[in-house]
Amino acid sequence: MSNLTVLVTGGASGIGKACALTFAQAGYNVVVNYGHSEQAAIDVTKQCSELGVEAFAVKADVSKKDEVDAMVDLTLKTFGSIDVLINNSGITKDNLLLRMTSEDFSDVLDVNLLGTFHCIKSVVKPMMKARKGKIINMASVIGQIGNVGQANYAASKGGIIALTKSVARELASRNVTCNAIAPGFIQTKMTDVLSDEVKSGILGQVPLARLGQPEEVAKVALFLASDAANYITGQVINVDGGMVM
Ligand code: NAP
Repeated sequence: MSNLTVLVTGGASGIGKACALTFAQAGYNVVVNYGHSEQAAIDVTKQCSELGVEAFAVKADVSKKDEVDAMVDLTLKTFGSIDVLINNSGITKDNLLLRMTSEDFSDVLDVNLLGTFHCIKSVVKPMMKARKGKIINMASVIGQIGNVGQANYAASKGGIIALTKSVARELASRNVTCNAIAPGFIQTKMTDVLSDEVKSGILGQVPLARLGQPEEVAKVALFLASDAANYITGQVINVDGGMVM
């Protein structure tokens, strides 16, 4: 059994699934969190096991602190440590500002920002005690530049960037790093719903002129988790084909 463990929230699909498999390939034991997609999460753990590591799936709504704490306890009981936390769970509820309800706004903030806070808070004590740990938060270019119809999502992702920097400052003396990845437009079910017209509009803003693949984000997460990134903290790494520069 490997002695390194990664906990990936929203690990059943898209970027989270790619992270789970990329870390399994690198020899990490993997905990695949899911909110609703139980069977998909179990399938990911099976694929991880086929790569020769230990893996299990655990349901927890990241917006609920007690569910997150139970997930972290189970992980620590099973594997003994959490070396890497990838806060990847995220949702969108797009609408123009005039039509966006308070509920649309707070639902997105609850999963994306509060959920990230809950997971960080829950792993911080064991990481501080171990005097090591890597926290990687999935932000977005939208948190840097905003977007029409995504005031809630942009606020959540901008919040994640600010949270990342504060956590990085607070935990640096304990050798725990905290960084964010800001993906651009990555081919997942989150972007599959966009119309061809919207997609071609987006591609016009991407110098590399294509959507990114989930694995291209996962490899950056693996780098940030590795010893090669020991002196990197509080950073936002864009994986966006040059969209924001
Ligand atoms: P995705 O496939 O829809 O993944 C989102 C994941 O979040 C799902 O696995 C979902 O799991 C999980 N999730 C949703 N609500 C949850 C909750 N309450 N508790 C726990 N997990 C929950 O989309 P994706 O594109 O891979 O997105 C992954 C992350 O990257 C998100 O944070 C997203 O904002 C960010 N991102 C994506 C893009 C892009 O272009 N795709 C760009 C920038 C940033 P369940 O189905 O089990 O609920």
